[in-house]
Amino acid sequence: MLITTKIKLILEQEHHEKLLETMKRYNAACTFISQFAFEQSEYNRIKLQKLVYYDVRDKFQLSSQMTILAVRKVADAYRADKAKKKKEYKKPKGKKNVEKTISFRETGAMSYDARTLSFTGLELASILTLDGRIKVPMGISPYHQGVMQGRNIRGQADLVWHDGVFYLLLVVELPDNEPYEPIDAIGVDLGIKNIAADSMGESHSGDTVNAVRYRNAKLRAKLQAKGTKSAKRLLARRRRKEARFSRDVNHCISKHMVEKAKRHRSLLALEDLTGIRERITVRKAQRRNQHAWAFAQLRSYIEYKSLIAGVPVVLVDPRNTSRECPQCGHIAKENRKTRDWFRCQACEYAAPADNVAALNIRSRALVSVPNVGVAI
Ligand SMILES: [Zn+2]
Repeated sequence: MLITTKIKLILEQEHHEKLLETMKRYNAACTFISQFAFEQSEYNRIKLQKLVYYDVRDKFQLSSQMTILAVRKVADAYRADKAKKKKEYKKPKGKKNVEKTISFRETGAMSYDARTLSFTGLELASILTLDGRIKVPMGISPYHQGVMQGRNIRGQADLVWHDGVFYLLLVVELPDNEPYEPIDAIGVDLGIKNIAADSMGESHSGDTVNAVRYRNAKLRAKLQAKGTKSAKRLLARRRRKEARFSRDVNHCISKHMVEKAKRHRSLLALEDLTGIRERITVRKAQRRNQHAWAFAQLRSYIEYKSLIAGVPVVLVDPRNTSRECPQCGHIAKENRKTRDWFRCQACEYAAPADNVAALNIRSRALVSVPNVGVAI
């Protein structure tokens, strides 16, 4: 499978400036090519390249390969734009599309390939700038070091600049491990109060993440009311920080889950998330897509880490997982009068609601994978 990893570049001041200048020059070239393409109505990459290649090299002093990559970026941007417009046309009351040139931010992402970027192990990247290559140490997390150890990393990557820091977005191909034959199943329920609860009674509290979100939502309202440029900047920074925090939490939980499943030689059972947004009730103010996004991210982390580790994953029907009694099978809304606690109206079985849902997810998985060697 292919995964994208974001790798921080550790740059000295001099190299940082060099790289930033290269990025700005490259994006200026992209805007130039874009204008040319628009004037000539030529969006085909090969034809466009033939027409502008020498001009661009001459005017912007880009290397041959960088020029080719800039043309590709422009052609790709127009193609994506066209695809987007096609979609919009399908809507009723199609708006008139005013064709216009696409321009590129001066610090927009810059594409690299094997001819402009290479690696020495996982420590050093050799990156082409306007004046030749620079060798740059990379800050790879221990987790990604483990994942990428011994893999062939090719130079295809995007260079991005966020908040004064350069990162490489690197696509790494990982071999899928043959999944093992599970002897048991662990059900996992994803929620808000608890980000994840499993059928063995363990849960990961969402309190910290929710507190950060709540604090940020309040701050956001305040800053949005202010509307100044610096407020907007602060807002963007907070949003990125929140996303980073949520991502770290998701990495941590998914890693733990997958290791636990492997230790117990179990499959992981999850709800089919396509319906989860409707099931979760959150206060209107919080009902932004960040929740949906965080769920989707956690699931994708669990799935890809499982794939790498050879842990089988089964998705089950999520209907009534929180209302069904794992002991007697009685399904009733009244079984869950409060959000946190489950109490069966028929047999009096009682337990934390999230763990009950996880137990139901587990038994559904065991039904759908009958060859798992345990008694239900
Ligand atoms: Zn019951």
